[in-house]
Amino acid sequence: MTIFKDMPQWQSFRKSLTGTLGFVPTMGALHDGHLLLVKESLLQNDKTVVSIYVNPTQFNNKSDLKTYPSSLESDIEKLKAIGVTALLTPTYEQMYPDKYCYKVTESDFSSTLCGSHRLGHFDGVLTVVLKLLLITQADRAYFGEKDYQQLQLIRGMVEAFFIKTKIIPIKTIREADGLAMSSRNKKLTKEQRKLAAQLFEQISKTQSSEQTKLSLRKLGFKLDYLEEHFNRRFVAASLGDVRLIDNVEL
Ligand code: AMP
Repeated sequence: MTIFKDMPQWQSFRKSLTGTLGFVPTMGALHDGHLLLVKESLLQNDKTVVSIYVNPTQFNNKSDLKTYPSSLESDIEKLKAIGVTALLTPTYEQMYPDKYCYKVTESDFSSTLCGSHRLGHFDGVLTVVLKLLLITQADRAYFGEKDYQQLQLIRGMVEAFFIKTKIIPIKTIREADGLAMSSRNKKLTKEQRKLAAQLFEQISKTQSSEQTKLSLRKLGFKLDYLEEHFNRRFVAASLGDVRLIDNVEL
């Protein structure tokens, strides 16, 4: 696996690659959910490139950015072991030569759900994904249904800007007790971790949204939202200062 910190160097390496290329963008602290996206890419493409970039423009909360988990050494080992071709670890200067003067804004769905609680979040996400799709020139890019609103917005952006990369959705991977795998789970205390499994358990029950909200609040979750769209139930809730999101098909 070749590691590229310098994007022009990657772009010239990219020109030498033959066959199909799959791309998995991540913010690192890799878990089995991320690795499933990578494995799917390895199966469907001749080569696979992964990026690890904690994108500051999508963090509306400075302390969330500061405390975002990182485990680059072990991430590299995991990616090497499964046969990834290249890893991109760009810097802010590499990703934002314009200092974020240019951005992608979606003006409909992005202001609901997570967008209404994390101002500017999806501008940051869409902008960095557009940059990464252009830098990688991948045939396919893999995104998790865990971040379903993000996945929908990326699909919309790809269509809106005639981007050739095919967006492949991957089902949410869960811990044995149902908690959706997430890098942020590492920030939970032992007690919070135990309680966190209730998020999936409660939203999966055949009960009204109102009843589910009540149950989650009683258990100690601070709710940002619990809403139903496209036959799915979406939730964002915090335990202490760890914000968790999840969604299930109804
Ligand atoms: P992140 O590093 O959190 O930005 O996630 C990188 C990619 O992995 C995104 O497309 C996420 O939706 C996806 N992902 C994160 N957690 C999971 C999970 N538990 N199951 C499936 N995909 C996931």
